[in-house]
Amino acid sequence: MHDSTARLRDSDFPALKRGKLSTLQVNLGYLCNLSCTHCHVNAGPRRTELMSREVIDQLLDFIRARDIHLLDLTGGAPEMNPHFRYFVTEARKLGVEVIDRCNLTILLEPGYEDLAEFLAEQAVQVTASLPCYEEANVAEQRGKGVYQQSIEALQLLNGLGYGKDPRLSLDLVYNPNGAFLPPPQGPLEQDYKAHLRDDYGIEFNQLLTITNMPISRFGSMLISKGQFDSYMQLLKDNFSQDNLASVMCHQLISVDWQGYVYDCDFNQMLGWGMVDPRGDQIIARDSARTHIADLLEVDLEGDSIVVGEHCYGCTAGQGSSCGGALS
Ligand code: SF4
Ligand code: SF4
Repeated sequence: MHDSTARLRDSDFPALKRGKLSTLQVNLGYLCNLSCTHCHVNAGPRRTELMSREVIDQLLDFIRARDIHLLDLTGGAPEMNPHFRYFVTEARKLGVEVIDRCNLTILLEPGYEDLAEFLAEQAVQVTASLPCYEEANVAEQRGKGVYQQSIEALQLLNGLGYGKDPRLSLDLVYNPNGAFLPPPQGPLEQDYKAHLRDDYGIEFNQLLTITNMPISRFGSMLISKGQFDSYMQLLKDNFSQDNLASVMCHQLISVDWQGYVYDCDFNQMLGWGMVDPRGDQIIARDSARTHIADLLEVDLEGDSIVVGEHCYGCTAGQGSSCGGALS
């Protein structure tokens, strides 16, 4: 594995300041029923890192204290955290919208037979990665058999009203299978909808296109193929000033399984905590890293965001965020 971190630190990316915080993105741990080759966090069935109930309670305190509207749950397979249902139920009682970043196949695993019903009862928004609507491409990225299981899980969700009932939103995520920018989101969504409806009777709400970031496994792949510099140039050549105001770090923070806080999920993968690695922004004065418990009384609006070369991935072309294209 080649680490791209050192190539990202020195950057001319414009300085960013936080807006009003509305979203908490939480990684519940690295346990997963799959072990995809491209996985950014190297998740898998043997990983033991899982967010504790204590940290989940600290996050619920934070949600209450800081008026959070949206909780975005990732992993691993977030549903495999033993406190997943507790967290979702308590957050929904507070009126918070919850997104479950679901790999779909977990809905079919033994022991999780009632998971889809639980998600529907709680009106959790399901966002699922389906890197392509063609079976061969999905098998290459996620493993053999995953495509058919994903189709079966999507049909299960449709049967519960997902993608049809306005309360139950079902979005799919596309990311390019190589060193190129995603195609325009609208036309690709139409292709996905036509294909999945015609072949499998599947309905979904939105397709979210996400640009590959030059970090983690994708960054390593770029370095090993000698494509790192040309991919960075592609991102920079397609820089769009208009996307700067809507990059997702303006209104979210990202929390790892131990409760440490980052400006976004990508900075979490890089290990760049909210304490700037260059030392010019310190929130947690008694610790090297900022923990969610440090932030109960802190208004982050107007604070600097830790940026690097990878940020060009958020602003290139139509822009990219965990909610898909920006423009
Ligand atoms: S499903 Fe997601 S979290 Fe699990 S191994 Fe694959 S990419 Fe990683
Ligand atoms: S990678 Fe994107 S979301 Fe993260 S800090 Fe940079 S611009 Fe913000």
